[in-house]
Amino acid sequence: MKLHLQTLFVAVGLGIKRNWHIFIAIIAGIIFGNYIHENPGIFVPFVKVLNIVGQAFIRVIQMIVIPLVCSAIVVGISSIGDSKQIGKFGKRMIFYYALITIAAVLIGCFLVLSIKPGVGVQEFISQTSALEIQNQVNTVLSEQRGQLGNLFLNMIPQNPLESLAKGEMIPIIFFALIFSLALSKVGEINRPIVSFFESIFAATMKVTDWIMVFAAPGIFALTTVAVSSFGLSIFNTISKFLGVVFIGFCIQFFVIYPLILKFFSKVPIGNFYTAIIEALLVAFGTASSSATLPLTIACCEKRGISHKVCSFVLPLGATLNMDGTALFQTVAVIFLTQAYGVALDPIQIIQIMVLAIIASSTSAGIPGAGLITIALVLNGLGLTPQQLVEGFAFLFAIDRVVDMIRTTVNVASDAVVAAVIADNENEINYDLLNNTDQYKEII
Ligand code: ASP
Repeated sequence: MKLHLQTLFVAVGLGIKRNWHIFIAIIAGIIFGNYIHENPGIFVPFVKVLNIVGQAFIRVIQMIVIPLVCSAIVVGISSIGDSKQIGKFGKRMIFYYALITIAAVLIGCFLVLSIKPGVGVQEFISQTSALEIQNQVNTVLSEQRGQLGNLFLNMIPQNPLESLAKGEMIPIIFFALIFSLALSKVGEINRPIVSFFESIFAATMKVTDWIMVFAAPGIFALTTVAVSSFGLSIFNTISKFLGVVFIGFCIQFFVIYPLILKFFSKVPIGNFYTAIIEALLVAFGTASSSATLPLTIACCEKRGISHKVCSFVLPLGATLNMDGTALFQTVAVIFLTQAYGVALDPIQIIQIMVLAIIASSTSAGIPGAGLITIALVLNGLGLTPQQLVEGFAFLFAIDRVVDMIRTTVNVASDAVVAAVIADNENEINYDLLNNTDQYKEII
């Protein structure tokens, strides 16, 4: 009874920490979305309205992501200053991101090969491939094939302003990194530009505070719309596949990250998860690492990780570090080969894992990106074109639910790496991090 009353108070927003609002919004969105899925009728127009509310929320956050990323990188790198230290940060970052992603694909591979969720579900997969999804999928597959050759070339912007206008994160980051390195080398003359970007950074963080006032309704709308499209019964139908993916995510979250925090730093695990809870909830609701980035930076910085580390490690992580996506891709691809009875030799399994690491890190931090880049991993495994289309259509149909969880994992690992590097480099304020009762509200 007491618990119910408390929940009620939270729901009406009285006296309980505001990050609970998001949690309640997610639960309410799941329940309501499922209800709508089962009784669509009169709710159809309502879902349309909620869709607009949810999309507006994501767009308004995305609006500040590019100024935030550019300013964070410029301010971060120029505050590190010395190129040796930048190199040290960079090496550590690559090491930890690689470690986390390799762990993810190994776990995914081990689980899917031992539980074999794909065996016996071929018929089910073919049934899912509705015609309109198939057309969409065909376009994706052909576009993706055309782009593979240029994968690395595309990272280098020919015209940074064009990349800015198109919102292409990797080329933008590439340019921002080189530009900031150059700025850090030119001495005092860099002051006006650095101050300019410092102001942009401060203003974007302010806008983030304002946007977060709308986080609960925004996340409620997004979750309701997402769940209303697939319904909770999806968990019965493909429970084995989702189960494997979900166990993999849990192992990353509850075993690998704590192990990394424990072995490579003295960051207390419980406090750390408390510090980033708002970012995790928003990641779940938006299914976008990029859209969550402002929140991830706010949580980490306000709770003790230095600006230097956050501004360098988190934007890169939100774009390149996608361990949840890599795990999902490994499981999904092996699942499809199991479903179609394609036997894989050890070399092919290694190939899948390596390609999943590459494909995941080329995925943008936006909803569904990891599904598009999966085409890279699916190449050359002996599936017929028809099977490829069917398999893809199946993954399309269930993607949103997996995406919400893998994005949460992706965001958590960005923050884990930021925390570990901050610890290694003495860039963490433990008084702030450990004083969880005094955390300033972010949402
Ligand atoms: N939605 C994921 C993210 O933003 C990427 C993916 O689709 O896997 O992190």
